[in-house]
Amino acid sequence: MLGTGPAGLTAAIYLARANMNPIVIEGEQPGGQLTLTTEVENFPGFIDGIMGPDLMDNMRKQAERFGAEFKRGWVTDVDVSQKPIKLHVNGLGEVVTESLILSTGASAKLLQIPGEQEHIGSGLSTCATCDGFFYRGKKVIIVGGGDSAMEEANFLTKFASEVTIIHRRNELRASKIMQDRAKRNPKIAWGLNKTPLEVIGDGIKVTGLKVKNNDTGEDEIVEAEGIFVAIGHTPNTAFLKGQIETDEVGYIQVKPGTTETNIPGIYACGDVQDDKYRQAITAAGTGCMAALDVERYLESVSNEWNPILSGVTEG
Ligand code: NAP
Repeated sequence: MLGTGPAGLTAAIYLARANMNPIVIEGEQPGGQLTLTTEVENFPGFIDGIMGPDLMDNMRKQAERFGAEFKRGWVTDVDVSQKPIKLHVNGLGEVVTESLILSTGASAKLLQIPGEQEHIGSGLSTCATCDGFFYRGKKVIIVGGGDSAMEEANFLTKFASEVTIIHRRNELRASKIMQDRAKRNPKIAWGLNKTPLEVIGDGIKVTGLKVKNNDTGEDEIVEAEGIFVAIGHTPNTAFLKGQIETDEVGYIQVKPGTTETNIPGIYACGDVQDDKYRQAITAAGTGCMAALDVERYLESVSNEWNPILSGVTEG
C-alpha cells in the first residue's frame, strides 16, 4: 500500500484486521494533508471536532494494533506489467506485492509565476498551519477563493496583523459557511478579481505580490511579508509514469462504484482518484472499499498467487 492519509490508513486497518499482512509505505508527508490542518469538525464521531494530526495518529495506531507494518520510503519506479508487481523504493530497495493500493493523495498547487520558486520557504508557503506562526504581527496574503483559502485565512488571523485574500474572480468558490466566517473576520481584507502576476522580494524575503486588477486592467502591488498559496492540489501519480490509467490532470481512473484501476490487482482510493469530494471521510470510505476489493481479488487468485508473498526483498 502506498500512502498514509485517511484512505491508506483505513485500508490498512481493514487489511490488517483481515490478516492480510499489509505493508504500508509512507512517503514525505506521513498522515497526508490532514497533518497540515488544525481542527477537523466534520469527521463523524467527534462531537467537539478533533485535531487533524491526532485523527491521523489514531488511525495509524489502530492499523498497527492489528499488525500493519509501516515503512518509510519514496517510490521511484513501478513495474505493473506482470505479477508480482514490483516497486523500487528509495531507502527500502525492491518491494514485491501481489496486490497494490494506491492512496498517494494530492499535493498543493503552485501559481507558476515569477518569483514564486525562489521564495518557497522564505516568505511563500502552501501550509498556513505549518508556517503561520512565523508571521506574528505581520501582513500576509492568501491566494485562492476556495474553502482552503477561507479556512487558512481565518487561521492566519490568529498570528498576522492583516490577512488579504487575493482571488482571481469576483465570486468565491468556497462554501457559504466558510465564506461567511471569513467575511465576519475583521482582520481579513479582500482583493477580489485580482490575478497574481509576480512574487516581489527584496533579495532576502517577500515584500509583496504583483497582481493584475481585472476591474481596471492595471497592475498593482499588494504589500505583505508572507504569501500563502491555497489554490488546490495535484494528484501524486507522476511516479506511475503512465502505467495506470489517469485522466488528463493525473487523477487515477477507477471503475464506477469500485476502486479498481485498469490493472487487475491494483486499486486506488482517496484524493489520488477523487477530484470531486476530496473529504477525509470520503477518502476513508474509499480506503475501506479498496481493502475489501483487495481481499476479494486475492481470494480469486489464491490458487495462482500466494497473498502472503508481499514483502521487502532487499535493503
Ligand atoms: P478548490 O476548491 O479547487 O479552490 C481552488 C481555488 O484556487 C479556486 O478559487 C481557484 O479559482 C483558485 N485557483 C486555482 N488555480 C489558480 C491559479 N493558477 N491562480 C489563481 N487562483 C487559482 O481547492 P481547495 O480550496 O483546496 O478545496 C479543495 C476541496 O477540499 C474542496 O472540495 C473543498 O470543499 C474541500 N475543503 C473543505 C474544507 C472544510 O470543509 N473544512 C477545508 C478545505 C478544503 P477559481 O475559483 O477561479 O477556479
